[in-house]
Amino acid sequence: MIGLMKSKTTACVVNDFMMSLPHLIISNDKEWLSGYKPHGIVQKKREIIVSEEEIEYEKFSEEMHTAFPKIFVRPFGGFAIGPGWYQIIRSLCRNIQSYIDSRDCHRLSLMKSNPMNRALPEQIEQVTVDQIKEKFGGLRFYYSGGDEKIDGMVTMAESWAAHTCETCGKPGKSREGGWIRTLCDEHEAERQKQMKE
Ligand SMILES: [Zn+2]
Repeated sequence: MIGLMKSKTTACVVNDFMMSLPHLIISNDKEWLSGYKPHGIVQKKREIIVSEEEIEYEKFSEEMHTAFPKIFVRPFGGFAIGPGWYQIIRSLCRNIQSYIDSRDCHRLSLMKSNPMNRALPEQIEQVTVDQIKEKFGGLRFYYSGGDEKIDGMVTMAESWAAHTCETCGKPGKSREGGWIRTLCDEHEAERQKQMKE
């Protein structure tokens, strides 16, 4: 996704959050770049140019790794999707993990005490992400583990993305022409404009 769209850039002041992400600092300003010390400390309150999308991406990635450490347990190539689909991934991961956790909890409690001699529910193999990307305008969520219910959750999330603008999250649809994308009217118009430029 990144690289296909023109990133919005904004001038802003280095804050503590960005200080923790020096690799995010993007600038075409040669003067600024020459003053950048990768191993040193970036001067505070220096005006720099960063991509809003990159900051949003980093925040989202950190949120996902913190909230779902078992799902994002190994390198998977990052979230190769637009921010409009972040909410879909967030909901999907929440549903997957709470389903696995509640099943585990139920199993454990039956193992501790099972006076009615109920059958133990099968343990679900923890879901771990292999790859998350956009392909042919659709969301692809590749993973290991899980069961049929989780397959259903993933299918539902992918269907949801097929009707959601990948840029902003509003209702969207598949757009042909060049790279197939799922976009709302506004972002499709923007893309058309960019393609003509
Ligand atoms: Zn949109």
